[in-house]
Amino acid sequence: MEKKPFVTLEQIQEIVKTYPTPFHIYDEKGIRENALRLNDAFSWNKGFREYFAVKATPNPFILNILKECGCGCDCSSLTELMMADALDFSGEDIMFSSNVTPAEEFAYARKIGAIINLDDITHIDFLEETAGIPETICCRYNPGGLFRISNSIMDNPGDAKYGFTTEQMFEGFRRLKAKGVKNFGIHAFLASNTVTNEYYPALAGILFRLAAQLKEETGANITFINLSGGIGIPYRPDQEPNNIYEISRGVKKAYDEILVPAGLGDVALYTELGRYMLGPYGHLITQVIHEKHIYKEYIGCDACAANLMRPAMYGAYHHITVLGKEDRPCDHMYDVTGSLCENNDKFAIDRMLPEIQVGDFLVIHDTGAHGFSMGYNYNGKLRSAELLLKENGQVQLIRRAETPKDYFATFDFCDILKKLQLD
Ligand SMILES: *Cc1c(COP(=O)(O)O)cnc(C)c1O
Repeated sequence: MEKKPFVTLEQIQEIVKTYPTPFHIYDEKGIRENALRLNDAFSWNKGFREYFAVKATPNPFILNILKECGCGCDCSSLTELMMADALDFSGEDIMFSSNVTPAEEFAYARKIGAIINLDDITHIDFLEETAGIPETICCRYNPGGLFRISNSIMDNPGDAKYGFTTEQMFEGFRRLKAKGVKNFGIHAFLASNTVTNEYYPALAGILFRLAAQLKEETGANITFINLSGGIGIPYRPDQEPNNIYEISRGVKKAYDEILVPAGLGDVALYTELGRYMLGPYGHLITQVIHEKHIYKEYIGCDACAANLMRPAMYGAYHHITVLGKEDRPCDHMYDVTGSLCENNDKFAIDRMLPEIQVGDFLVIHDTGAHGFSMGYNYNGKLRSAELLLKENGQVQLIRRAETPKDYFATFDFCDILKKLQLD
């Protein structure tokens, strides 16, 4: 499928008069339509709720849009919990799916009434000592071994640090029940960025069978099952996008075949999607500031891996559009690079693109999730602004760009800020 940007060259030329590149820009209309589609697809399940994975795009304005679409949020750390609290997500609107959790984070989660998703059986005692055991709790399951869907290996849970073993799920439920837990949830995340309609149905089958057994053997009152994240997006133009209605039908089939006969026909389904909710609805916009001709042809941008780490970290593909040259032939091969002193700081390698000139604007696609949020300050690079393209076509600043003063802020106990005349 052809990948078309949600902004035009003319729009970007107007925006950069106020907000210089690089920046991430998000498409409010796309975000809302997608969230409503997800809710519609799962409306057959009475308690269905998406808890947006905050770590994908931790921006208060984005969280508020999703809140208006009925989503809760899934937090993994103290500051994410604080953000949810500041936006008046309350109690059961917040899932706390953390691991290697510090005591103060459990305490804060308990204070704001978030649903705690325990990552390990030893965390039962740790939670009891630090914050007390709540009435409603969730346990994260790791089935071990390899996770296969129709003979192809999707991922390797046996090698993943997360979750309880099968035996520990049974023991954990018994212990939690004895400590007064009234409502139980089950969670698992077995494969990430799955571009297949079969992932959720396969995962649902595993979790639903486990739920039926846990109910049978421990008598626990299971009220929700959290299918977590992992639904992917087509980063490459040749990938077939997931169909959320098809995915939902597959989950419903497993629900009707396994949960309903087990007397679990009123279990609520939760999701914790990040990438699927935001990925396609963000662009990184960068301007070409240099071209270089040595053994290869290089295009140098004003953005770098500090603004989008996925290509450098995972070798991930991100599609690139040269704005205003959408219809020109892709007859030039380039490495598109940032300015870090790191040779993996390349947004694209050997990519066929239209001929590029200094001053051109590039759209780097699908940066709405795990994009800005994975940014860092290596080489003293500053984080960019985040902008929102609103439904009425206006552009709103939803995070300002960092300045040198932000970069030096953690030296406020010595005289460096004064020396630089930054205070
Ligand atoms: C990262 C994460 C998610 C979201 O994952 P996506 O791949 O963005 O859907 C959900 N739940 C947990 C516990 C996570 O760590």
